[in-house]
Amino acid sequence: MKYVILVSDGMADEPVSELGNRTPLEAARTPNMDALTKQAEVFGLARTIPDGFEPGSDVGNMSIFGYDPKKYYTGRAPIEALSLGIDLIPSDVAVRCNLVKLAVKNGQTIMEDYSAGHISTEKAHELITLLKPALEDESFTLYPGVSYRHILLWRQGEDRFRATPPHNIPGQVIDKHLPSGQGSEVLLGLIEKSQKILKNEQANSIWLWGAGKKPSVPTLQKRFGIQGAVISAVDLIRGLGICAGLEVILVPGATGYLDTNYRGKVEAALRALQKNDFVSLHIEAPDETGHEGSVSKKVLAIEDFDSKVVGPLLAGLKTLPDFSLLLMPDHPTPVSIRTHTADPVPFLIYRKSKSSKITHAQQRFTESFALKTGILRDEAHHLIEELLQLNN
Ligand SMILES: [Zn+2]
Repeated sequence: MKYVILVSDGMADEPVSELGNRTPLEAARTPNMDALTKQAEVFGLARTIPDGFEPGSDVGNMSIFGYDPKKYYTGRAPIEALSLGIDLIPSDVAVRCNLVKLAVKNGQTIMEDYSAGHISTEKAHELITLLKPALEDESFTLYPGVSYRHILLWRQGEDRFRATPPHNIPGQVIDKHLPSGQGSEVLLGLIEKSQKILKNEQANSIWLWGAGKKPSVPTLQKRFGIQGAVISAVDLIRGLGICAGLEVILVPGATGYLDTNYRGKVEAALRALQKNDFVSLHIEAPDETGHEGSVSKKVLAIEDFDSKVVGPLLAGLKTLPDFSLLLMPDHPTPVSIRTHTADPVPFLIYRKSKSSKITHAQQRFTESFALKTGILRDEAHHLIEELLQLNN
């Protein structure tokens, strides 16, 4: 049996007046996801974000990989640091370093763009190189990542300071969202220095948040005896895959946005299943379009996911003797609020060998159909056991 986890980041949403009070999932043409739903072994809602946790891809995907965030979550940046190959020792603190665009409005500084206009990785690396001489010393090292996402390593650092994720405050005044609490003064100093250096650049400041120490989690091999791979354009997901003991497969042209290499990612996933039991394939675009607040782009991202990922992937999987598939978003990213919520998301588990006996004629893969099933998996970190049929 081959196992697949297919995650469409931030795909869930809420009714939008522009779509006649339908959600983007309801408005989008999704024949492949709907066909799976009609023959799913189980279809319903799952809570990926436990109470008290900030809704985001780190917590959501940690649950989907089968790890209870209440037990294993230590912050976003240490997970991303692992995917950049940064070797963290126990006293190290990894800090997420966004390149952002700030603006002055009515005399106050606001967060204009958390991604500096989806800055290209090449341009971002130029700016990180510009910042290094002024920001680095025996305590701090800057590690360039992908697009606007980078890592600041803080030796003997402090991880108890608070700072708001920049994608949570689009257009808002930044003052009360800057790092505060233990250790924040030195970070504020680094942010100030960056603004002097990046004055007329596409990004004109760094933003520091999501700090933490190295997480220690048992691998999926150790827990379930499965060998697998992870495919994603996003550092965080690759970092979670490394924590889980998975092979990281890099796909050229994977951008984490609407222009990503969908075909390359699907082909890589099918190839990975030739030598692995398990593959996790993650698509980022629906989340980014949700953060942009663009209804039309989010519907496009969902339709692309269905036609360029779900369809071709299923065609390939159906050539296998048998396979089991878990399909779900990691959290909602409603276009109306342009950030994440902790609301439960639709999920389905489909098994080729069982599909012919199952028919839910009316079902579609949407939030309201999932709600109507009355099924709620309250702790999504158990879904992988269900996928692997370990609780039969
Ligand atoms: Zn996400």
